[in-house]
Amino acid sequence: MEIRDVSKRFGTTTVLDQVNLTLAPGTVTAIIGPSGAGKSTLLRTINHLERADEGFISIDDELIGYERDGNVLYELKEGAIRRRRSAVGMVFQNFNLFPHLTVVENIIEAPVSVQGIPRAEAIGTALDLLARIGLSDKADAYPRHLSGGQQQRVAIARALALRPKVLLFDEPTSALDPELVGEVLDVIKELADSGTTLVIVTHEIGFAREIADTVVFMESGKVVEVAPPAKLFSDPAHPRTRAFLAKVL
Ligand code: ATP
Ligand code: MG
Repeated sequence: MEIRDVSKRFGTTTVLDQVNLTLAPGTVTAIIGPSGAGKSTLLRTINHLERADEGFISIDDELIGYERDGNVLYELKEGAIRRRRSAVGMVFQNFNLFPHLTVVENIIEAPVSVQGIPRAEAIGTALDLLARIGLSDKADAYPRHLSGGQQQRVAIARALALRPKVLLFDEPTSALDPELVGEVLDVIKELADSGTTLVIVTHEIGFAREIADTVVFMESGKVVEVAPPAKLFSDPAHPRTRAFLAKVL
């Protein structure tokens, strides 16, 4: 995935300021930084939930949200955006499961309605994914009957059902009780080991150190430093990174 010169403003506030990042397939990128740095906005822009004001984002040379004609970019229509967005999966802090749908119905909704996959096939895939995250017995349960950790694992399965090329996580464990964090991190770790391309905004520095190939430190809408975890956490190059780590480590 290529993020090229992406800027985003809300009114007069610049929330993303000329962000450039390249993510190689199969790698895990952790994004850290203070509150308000623009981390969530960057993920939402990658997924085209927000429109970049400048720059572009592409995956395998396919632009997210736009079609190119020569040097001119045209924004795609909503249906086409939804189809192309399925190249990017997103898991939110608060799970965002559909409360009126069962676990299996949550997982098959987008594959059936967006990707046009036959219902029976989508259910088969959903049951395979539930087995993988250890929740086969919850297939017909409603989200309100699951723990937070179980809901988040279902949210991960739902994102995976679209077979995304990149999976984005926005603080996937920060809404969980401490004893439920581990089971969600274990699922993410397994995805990382299986070669899924992951981008994870996280406050779990230990987890980032363990799982990430690359750590990105953001502040005030800018990418300040990009480095492997062993370098960034032990010997950061930038004084802003050092100041941030001194507070959180
Ligand atoms: P946190 O660690 O607290 O989640 P963050 O790094 O994810 O922070 P963002 O949520 O991306 O930060 O917000 C970056 C800035 O953009 C903040 O100043 C925020 O107030 C502002 N912002 C975010 N969304 C909007 C919006 N829809 N309208 C106006 N301002 C917004
Ligand atoms: Mg955020």
